[in-house]
Amino acid sequence: MAFELPKLKFAYDALEPKIDAKTMEIHHTKHHQGYTNKLNDAIKGTEHEGKTIENILSNLDMANSAVRNNGGGFYNHSLFWEVINPNNKGRLSGDLKEAIMDKYKSFDGFKDAFSKAAATQFGSGWAWLCVHPGGKVEVCSTPNQDNSLMPGVGCGGQPILGLDVWEHAYYLNYQNRRPDYIDAFFDLINWNEVESRYAKSK
Ligand code: MN
Repeated sequence: MAFELPKLKFAYDALEPKIDAKTMEIHHTKHHQGYTNKLNDAIKGTEHEGKTIENILSNLDMANSAVRNNGGGFYNHSLFWEVINPNNKGRLSGDLKEAIMDKYKSFDGFKDAFSKAAATQFGSGWAWLCVHPGGKVEVCSTPNQDNSLMPGVGCGGQPILGLDVWEHAYYLNYQNRRPDYIDAFFDLINWNEVESRYAKSK
């Protein structure tokens, strides 16, 4: 069964003015659809066909650029649409809050670390909050469509929160003002979803 573009749980204009409808529509129907189609082409008839995306990425030969770029793109955007939500945002609480406080001392300490990772990722890439086995959390960033599931990216663990800092994610509305886009993202985080991912990952 081929991978399919996941449906969004909200309308393209639901994140305005933080993220504009045109950006959301192009991002979902062109970029994410493109990664999905190219991933399916790249795995057809190979050992990866029929496996879960997590399994494919965790066991990836990083020299396989078609699966690396498009499998990463498929997975990363699927996570991204789930961890932002205009309505169901919740509040950071429970075990995840404890893990973040343990590592970053305060919410602002975490926000600073995450924002810095997102702002300083040179060129295209992603900022992540990852969970290591045992429950410790870590902020990091990766280039292009890499993520922490892939071997040897130097940023280990299960990603539970991700921010796309490719220009296609923000340029129509923010142009070169990536830090403003990062700030806006913090108002959209669906903490209920991130906490649920933390509970399954630790
Ligand atoms: Mn993107």
